[in-house]
Amino acid sequence: MIQDYDPKTEIQQSLMNTHHHFDVLVIGSGAAGLSLALRLPQHLQVAVISKRALSEGNTYYAQGGIAAVLDENDSIESHIEDTFDAGAGLCDREVIRQVAEHGPENIQWLLDKGVDFTREQPPSDGFHLTREGGHSKRRVVHAADATGKEVEIRIEQDARNRSNIHLFEDHNAIDLILANREQGANRRCVGAYILNTETSHVETVLASVTVIATGGASKVYLYTSNPDVATGDGIAMAWRAGCRVANMEFIQFHPTCLYHPEAKSFLITEAIRGEGGKLLRADGSRFMHRFDERAELAPRDIVARAIDHEMKRLGEDCVYLDISHKPKTFIIDHFPTIYSRCKEYGIDITKDPIPVVPAAHYTCGGIISNALGQTDIPNLYAIGEASYTGLHGANRMASNSLLECLVFAQAAANDIAAKIDSIPKPPQICAWDESRVTDSDEEVVVAHNWDELRRFMWDYVGIVRTNKRLERARRRINLLQHEIREYYSNFRVTNDLLELRNLVEVASLIVRSAQSRKESRGLHYTLNFPKRDDRYQCSPTILIPDNYDPE
Ligand SMILES: Cc1cc2nc3c(=O)[nH]c(=O)nc-3n(C[C@H](O)[C@H](O)[C@H](O)COP(=O)(O)OP(=O)(O)OC[C@H]3O[C@@H](n4cnc5c(N)ncnc54)[C@H](O)[C@@H]3O)c2cc1C
Repeated sequence: MIQDYDPKTEIQQSLMNTHHHFDVLVIGSGAAGLSLALRLPQHLQVAVISKRALSEGNTYYAQGGIAAVLDENDSIESHIEDTFDAGAGLCDREVIRQVAEHGPENIQWLLDKGVDFTREQPPSDGFHLTREGGHSKRRVVHAADATGKEVEIRIEQDARNRSNIHLFEDHNAIDLILANREQGANRRCVGAYILNTETSHVETVLASVTVIATGGASKVYLYTSNPDVATGDGIAMAWRAGCRVANMEFIQFHPTCLYHPEAKSFLITEAIRGEGGKLLRADGSRFMHRFDERAELAPRDIVARAIDHEMKRLGEDCVYLDISHKPKTFIIDHFPTIYSRCKEYGIDITKDPIPVVPAAHYTCGGIISNALGQTDIPNLYAIGEASYTGLHGANRMASNSLLECLVFAQAAANDIAAKIDSIPKPPQICAWDESRVTDSDEEVVVAHNWDELRRFMWDYVGIVRTNKRLERARRRINLLQHEIREYYSNFRVTNDLLELRNLVEVASLIVRSAQSRKESRGLHYTLNFPKRDDRYQCSPTILIPDNYDPE
């Protein structure tokens, strides 16, 4: 017997219509999803679905690189210690070891796929390794300043050439399908309902194994460096299905994203501050020295917090980053992409300060998954930014995230390959029934709620939190959840509605986690408990859904 736990599908199941059946269903086509698909044995039929174009995801926009121990002066132990320090005591050492130890072979795997990492100038034939914040050694391998693009394009090409990998763009996973949910025994994930956004029909995709690789949730904030697809869908789906989530309060904010009405999600690299860029208020005065003696060179979270403080104190929409005191040729040579991108918006960075705001950048928490990528539900895996593995703790060290995607994709693929023959095929199930819903005549409700949610999450649950602000956010989330549930039950699903439903779910998880952490640690900073408290809080924040079944 198949039962879906979702209120809508419970009342709207009928005979099946569009059915697909695969060995493995991978939801998400970033570094995590595609590398898992490529590592599976080629006799398995694998579906990879992607909400928009295959390459549209955080992976494509990654700039800096991938951390791995490749230099003879570096060591696995050093990578482990650096990651542990950055995570402010909340990382799982065994997980860090797993990731660090598998780093070099995963870089080799990418090289075998044709990824063209930047090399040292001859006569040296090694890779050019950079050193980023938190790393005590040079260990970040990169492809110029567009590493993610290079990785995504190569693995995408490879996936397109594999006859056993079936790629579906413009397919939005709505909810997971569970078999034997009520009986307990043999309860397992058997696929997902998926909205084909080209045809607007919901398709039923059945699979022996389902993998969530849907990336992060930073779109829940008004300002983000992430592309539009980062709406935390996988986290919300897994939570609704009965998976635990952890550490959702730890959202990493990048201090400087371009602030311009037409420029979405464009990062202004930290290297500008590294080269002497000054942060200014609207009146041209500097402020960073009031927050940290290193001024503009303080760590990311301190700079982000200082900017947020000044913006809120002065009621300003942004602050400014000024590098114009440097020679024009220096600026254009060092920052060609930023120079030309800002020029498109009428900002000449050789003369003008750049308007910037901090922006939500990385979701450290997510679906709890173990060393093999397995979640709380049998035959459901979660990998990449959507997962919580214990690697990042309270703060992610730069360039560890792409590595995490690759290492857990490898581990999960090996586990799936070893056990898939013993997994029974999914039974027949009812299809999604749209007979009792109508097209919405009030799309404005969805648009309004999107804006409202993202703005109050920014204002109340952003970089600096307080008990009062969190409580305000919680009340608004409750209202929105009620409204969206009603809307969802009555109207045909659309991309925007599905994303909004997931964003509100994720917002609720972030607020609940933040409210339960009575200290400031890593990326979670609250004025009510401004200090770290090792007596009580040296453990991850775990949220357990009502339908959690520990088996
Ligand atoms: C600007 C920027 C710079 C970064 N720089 C670095 C860096 O230098 N080094 C580093 O290690 N990390 C970096 N990161 C972080 C890193 O890019 C991400 O953590 C990583 O790429 C996540 O990969 P992923 O495969 O988990 O998710 P993504 O690459 O985000 O892929 C998610 C996929 O899931 C799909 N999806 C989502 N929801 C659904 C749904 N409901 N149905 C179907 N499909 C769905 C999306 O369409 C997409 O295909 C950066 C991130 C950003 C935004």
